[in-house]
Amino acid sequence: MQNQFIMAGVMGWPVAHSRSPAIHNHWIQHYGLTGAYGLFPVKPQELETAIRGLQALGLAGCNITIPHKVEAMKFMDWVDPLAQRMGAINTIVRQPDGALHGFNNDGFGYIQSLREEQPTWRADTGPIVILGAGGASRAILLSLMDEGATEVRLLNRTRSKADALAEEFGSGVTVVDWSERQNALSGAALLINTTSQGMHGQSSLDIDLAQLPISAVVSDAIYIPLETPLLARARLRGNPTVNGLGMLLHQARPAFQAWFGVMPEVTPALRQAIIATL
Ligand code: NAP
Repeated sequence: MQNQFIMAGVMGWPVAHSRSPAIHNHWIQHYGLTGAYGLFPVKPQELETAIRGLQALGLAGCNITIPHKVEAMKFMDWVDPLAQRMGAINTIVRQPDGALHGFNNDGFGYIQSLREEQPTWRADTGPIVILGAGGASRAILLSLMDEGATEVRLLNRTRSKADALAEEFGSGVTVVDWSERQNALSGAALLINTTSQGMHGQSSLDIDLAQLPISAVVSDAIYIPLETPLLARARLRGNPTVNGLGMLLHQARPAFQAWFGVMPEVTPALRQAIIATL
């Protein structure tokens, strides 16, 4: 049993809203470990100093959240190839020799969350429609392609961003114009919302689901609210749905393992503890 005190945390600006302390501290307690996970509000101009401080303070590492995910890569001694392809990191692991290694577990979190709700899910069962082309979209798209997705329809309000993202993937990813989003749902096996539309305080996603097969899984990266208006509409018409909480919980697992030496489980108790904070 580990008895050394291990510290980790999350750097962001602002960061007070982050659920990561609740997740990691739940696991520290659950697995009887000695350590703590804290919040580090780090201004953009102080990011480098803060990251260099990990070594001086003896932290095991930290998570990196908005707006630092891209910038933080510059200060790593090594970046995992998947994170390099994503162009962003969300986890830093300090090595025994002090070197800082960067990872991105968002895509892992998304795939695990789908599998948890839909154990028989496969990436190649049919067309996948992704709405949005920001950071979450990039992580999810990469992971889906790595899982064997063969046909992705990518749509974004600003088409040029979808075009740029699709260019990296060749023929498997087709960009569809945002104005065609209703028609893009025809024959789809999976619909994913990675836009901020439907998030607490934002207007809901403007899309008619009439052409979406009832068998299609509908998932949303958003977790506040747990059931977005999109997921509510999908559930009412009979589609299986997956909310964004699983992605949030599962992305935390590899980081916790790297810092604390235990691959933690997403249990109903953890889920309830985090839902209570939403
Ligand atoms: P981002 O990089 O800022 O991307 C935002 C996306 O939303 C862009 O595609 C943007 O399109 C689109 N958008 C914004 N306003 C829109 C509107 N009025 N109509 C249509 N599209 C609109 O953000 P992100 O980091 O990818 O995050 C996106 C969502 O995923 C957020 O709600 C976030 O909470 C969630 N997320 C969840 C997890 C998790 O663990 N569950 C992890 C990461 C992110 P334009 O390019 O046209 O602006």
